[in-house]
Amino acid sequence: MLTGHIAVSALLKHYLSGSGLPLYGAAIFPDLVDKGLSKAGILPTGRDVGHSLLAAALTTGCVGIFWGRRAARDWGLSYLAHLICDTGGSIPWFYPFRRYDFEPSDRSISQLLFTALIHPTLAERLLLSWALSAPLLGK
Ligand SMILES: [Zn+2]
Repeated sequence: MLTGHIAVSALLKHYLSGSGLPLYGAAIFPDLVDKGLSKAGILPTGRDVGHSLLAAALTTGCVGIFWGRRAARDWGLSYLAHLICDTGGSIPWFYPFRRYDFEPSDRSISQLLFTALIHPTLAERLLLSWALSAPLLGK
């Protein structure tokens, strides 16, 4: 879903005139945290605390403290868009307040990211096409 996350952030940047670093950072942050910590053996699965509303709220607050309200808006929107785009699978929305059981993955993080980049879903291809053509279409 990496391609889709980046495409959605590009659309948010285009239509909301958002700032790039918070938008693209939040687009990949949940996967970097959870998949990275999962592959390090710290978390049992690639969708854990980083894919929760608590993480979205805490990181948005931190971005707001260090980068300001507009960056926090962009980070928060992109983070929530990431979680919504991942709803094709299970998302631990209310972690750690509710228990979630996930199957651990045996693929490495580089395998997961490479597969996500070279095998985008139809929805991701459509989003990417829209994101690439949006500057030509105007707002
Ligand atoms: Zn994700």
